[in-house]
Amino acid sequence: MGERLYRSQGIIIKRVDVGEADRIVTILTPQGKIDATARGVRKTTSKLAGHLELLSLCQLQLARGRSRDVITQSVAVERFARLQASLLRMAAGYYVAELADVLVGDEDAASPAFAALSETLHALSSAEQIDMVVHWYTLALCDAVGYRPQLVDCAVCNTVLDTSAERWSHAQGGMLCPDCHRSDPQSQPITLPVFKLLRFVQREPLAHLGDVVQPAVVHAQVYQLMRQWIRRVHNRPLRAADFFDDVRRQRQ
Ligand SMILES: [Zn+2]
Repeated sequence: MGERLYRSQGIIIKRVDVGEADRIVTILTPQGKIDATARGVRKTTSKLAGHLELLSLCQLQLARGRSRDVITQSVAVERFARLQASLLRMAAGYYVAELADVLVGDEDAASPAFAALSETLHALSSAEQIDMVVHWYTLALCDAVGYRPQLVDCAVCNTVLDTSAERWSHAQGGMLCPDCHRSDPQSQPITLPVFKLLRFVQREPLAHLGDVVQPAVVHAQVYQLMRQWIRRVHNRPLRAADFFDDVRRQRQ
């Protein structure tokens, strides 16, 4: 019995209803991403109900199953209640949760991805500049899963980049110096504010970013570029992106 059960901390990043009253819950833990069954959780009498909410940090007990583990206990230890009070914060939360779901695959990446998501959900609860927090998580997650874009050195020749760099290459893995533009005919122009913002976000801790104001047009370009970048490893649109974009536009 003891070997079948294990405990873990985890953040709920996806929930899918199945059958009469069950749910399959995707949990990002420091050890890996788990899809687990929550039996009967949609019944009002379920002890799990209210303790497996999307974006909550839970202390879980699971039983190893043949095809999928089963959640036997869950206690929500951090519900990030302020996210629920704001449509923008909540939409950003769904968006970063989906990023974690589509990008975290192997166990190596899980621990930094989990730590970054936990930090991000705290920041989304309080930061003034939600877009900065989302950009930070996007780059931190890419870093965690071994998909860090090159923003300091040229992605082709490794020359240290300066403000003369103005083209991005998805194929080469980041920014190109002027001498290397021709290495990728598909490379695309990047404005200096976008380049500077990406470098700043990749370099700085999250605590330094939540109050940094940037023009909406720069944020829009960063979102577009990062989504193209992610599309190269996850070749489907992000489901949470449209909702997040709608809410962001209504705020502008
Ligand atoms: Zn170069």
